[in-house]
Amino acid sequence: MITTRFAPSPTGFLHVGNIRTALINWLYARHHNGRFILRIDDTDSERSTEEFTQAIRKDLAWLNLNPDAEYKQSKRIELYDIRFEYLKTQGRVYPCYETSQELELKRRIAIGRGLPPIYDRAGLRLTIEEHESFKAQGIEPHWRFRLDHSKPIIWNDLIRGPQRFDPALLSDPVIRRADGSWLYLLPSVIDDIDMEITTVVRGEDHVSNTATQIQMFSALNAEIPDFAHMALLTGGDAKISKRFGADGVADFKAADIEAIALESLLARIGTSDPVEAITDLTPLVENFDFKHFSRAPARFDMAELKHINARILHILPYKDVASRLPKDMDEKAWDIIRPNLESIQEAKFWWNIVKGDIEIPQFSEEDKAYLETACQVAKGIDWASEPWNALITTLKKESGRKGKALFLPLRLALTGQNHGPDMAGLLPLIGRENTLFRLNKAIK
Ligand code: GLU
Repeated sequence: MITTRFAPSPTGFLHVGNIRTALINWLYARHHNGRFILRIDDTDSERSTEEFTQAIRKDLAWLNLNPDAEYKQSKRIELYDIRFEYLKTQGRVYPCYETSQELELKRRIAIGRGLPPIYDRAGLRLTIEEHESFKAQGIEPHWRFRLDHSKPIIWNDLIRGPQRFDPALLSDPVIRRADGSWLYLLPSVIDDIDMEITTVVRGEDHVSNTATQIQMFSALNAEIPDFAHMALLTGGDAKISKRFGADGVADFKAADIEAIALESLLARIGTSDPVEAITDLTPLVENFDFKHFSRAPARFDMAELKHINARILHILPYKDVASRLPKDMDEKAWDIIRPNLESIQEAKFWWNIVKGDIEIPQFSEEDKAYLETACQVAKGIDWASEPWNALITTLKKESGRKGKALFLPLRLALTGQNHGPDMAGLLPLIGRENTLFRLNKAIK
């Protein structure tokens, strides 16, 4: 059973990059009829908040990316302690005492000597007396994971293809702070094992973490999951993830973007598949394949998002938008108005044109005469079926007008606008009474 997880740290709102990671994890799981897990990576108790955790849940709900299970790392510390003790017995973790200043100095010296700035494993060489002396001074160690240098780390990335790292060129990663708190690397592996994660899907900024984590899986005698590292998102200006979507879904909501529009774009940018106008996630699930993903950075473009948002609105069914439409706007009205919308907010505008008070422009005497005829005709037609056709057919004959001269004064008099939804659809919505009222007003 394919199982993926989305593992945000609740230290801020989800930005567009996180949203994409969540979506791709969800799509891959659903494509395989698998499971999608939400794991709240809240081991950093100072920066993690319940408010952000709730915002993450809410955002996923808005996106329709419902998890099959949810876990919080802060509730799983006991398990990390147990596994940590095991790694100690295996000599795979070791205590270190360097301060960050000392480490920085070591780093600079290495660089000065033209060497890679890798941790020198001084912690492994401490004598018992030295350990005792730190202890006597009340200095607690932080802990590193000891990488096995005996063979290269390799994996076949589902997006990036064969990967190879020489562990000797990596620092033994710090996994636990002196105060006992956990850094992200080891708890993530322990959870991935415990939750039977088959596929870790995340941004390519995690590639070197993966190298060290693969050794952690082995050290814990676990099978190594598949990895898929997505190329990062870039924007028109490089800081896209900070700027747009920095307030999470709230930004997209404020811009009147439909969740499905955001998802149709995020699922397809950086892949060989086109961005398509869709009304639910099914086509994305069906077509999903990591083979379609490119290794080149994907460009997230707000203009493209707005464009696909409009295309999707034009086909979105009423049930998907009803709760956000003006109260009395029904399905028929939605179907007529939606082809004219760029954002759902504009539905209000058009509904007001249909039902509300509109401003009617001044007409020439000639047009007034024409509209007077229209008023007479409108009184006599059958409003129950296709009144616009009836109105236009008769008016054409009676006025001798055609094209723009025939249509535009009517549109202006009945909507106050020179463009908009199809009049054949609008007229029944405006209704007989309102039509006569507006025509009468126009000829005054
Ligand atoms: N909490 C980590 C992050 O947000 C999770 C990374 C991962 O997916 O393993 O970067």
